[in-house]
Amino acid sequence: MKPVPWVSVAVAGDARAGVLHLAGHEVRTPTFMPVGTQAAIRTVSPLHLETTGSQIVLANTYHLSQRPGEDVVKKAGGLHAFSGIKLPILTDSGGFQVFSLEKKEVTEEGVTFTYEVDGQRTFLSPERSMEVQQDLGSDIAMVFDECLPFGADRSYAEASVGRTTRWERRSKAAHTRPDQSLFGIIQGGFWADLRKRSAEEIQEIGFDGIAIGGLSVGEGHRAMCDVLDDTLPHVNKTQARYLMGVGRPIDLVEGVARGIDMFDCVLPTRHARSGVVYTTTGRIRLTDARFRKDMFPVDTDCRCYTCSNFTRAYLHHLLRVDEVLGSTLATIHNLHWFATFMDKMRNSIIEGSFQTFRRRVHEIYPEDTSAKPVASYPAIGQGQGVKRSTNPSPAGAVRKPAGARPSAAPKPPFKGRK
Ligand SMILES: [Zn+2]
Repeated sequence: MKPVPWVSVAVAGDARAGVLHLAGHEVRTPTFMPVGTQAAIRTVSPLHLETTGSQIVLANTYHLSQRPGEDVVKKAGGLHAFSGIKLPILTDSGGFQVFSLEKKEVTEEGVTFTYEVDGQRTFLSPERSMEVQQDLGSDIAMVFDECLPFGADRSYAEASVGRTTRWERRSKAAHTRPDQSLFGIIQGGFWADLRKRSAEEIQEIGFDGIAIGGLSVGEGHRAMCDVLDDTLPHVNKTQARYLMGVGRPIDLVEGVARGIDMFDCVLPTRHARSGVVYTTTGRIRLTDARFRKDMFPVDTDCRCYTCSNFTRAYLHHLLRVDEVLGSTLATIHNLHWFATFMDKMRNSIIEGSFQTFRRRVHEIYPEDTSAKPVASYPAIGQGQGVKRSTNPSPAGAVRKPAGARPSAAPKPPFKGRK
């Protein structure tokens, strides 16, 4: 029998600080996992990734099974050898991506879909997902489940919860790799009784950790908290709990307050590439004209590689001329900021000051009810006013500067995993 892979270090109400034990690695929880869809954190080398304090990253089974194909990764010796990423890697099951496709056919056996790149009809099932993830050699594999679309009706949701339980049972049976942890996923949409039923059925099967899926699909912060309140009382306290696809600071702190240990989201990396960075006084957009001559680091409180060596003015310049180093430096900072944010949260649980920390997050990163897409860069040369401050304000707000060109092709709102 495997040892318990997660141990508690301290609690503050329902919030927990702990350590997740993986083959050859220890991960301090609560923790945030950056998303490296294609077995790479976009624009950042593994060398710089390690300087950010990130402890574990996520890679996407769906994408990697298509290109380069798990056979190539296996031949290279697994994801770590192939990518050069030494940190632990969690792979999702591919279910989230497949269920977000339009042309798909769901049967008891699995899902048939059209691969978006070459139009090839492809089949994914619990057994196939386990085969791919074991070949990829990630440290944590996720079961194959059905991610309910936001707005699914009750009868579909009921049938789906049953199917997900059967698929997770098949996932467990097909999983044989002893050096890889396997996490189950609770579904059930936005119905409290279905969440309870899914929680009970999934834990009955027995996994190394438990994830809560089906969130970050456009439901908003309050609905997310409601689902956690409905679900977590039915989840045992002895295992790692992973909230999938969630990553705004307010979601992280409220998730932790309810007993979540692990999160993943594209937010810090995707935001960075559009010049949006997180600071101890709020979120700012480095492409704003006010940073053109700003010789302070991104965040005067930050010790990351970017903040130790470069000014806001330099990042502003790189981002405005579309130099890829601008994305790299902003991503390094954001990943460092998120890792530090989680470490501070963990310390506050251990030191008994979590509620103070939680209140502070609400002040600096209040709930964003608009869920607006990140706007495109402003037109170059507009607005030359330069404001000097040690750390910019206002907190939290990401605004289009006055006179900014409307986005020609607005990006979709963040919907978690991609
Ligand atoms: Zn920094």
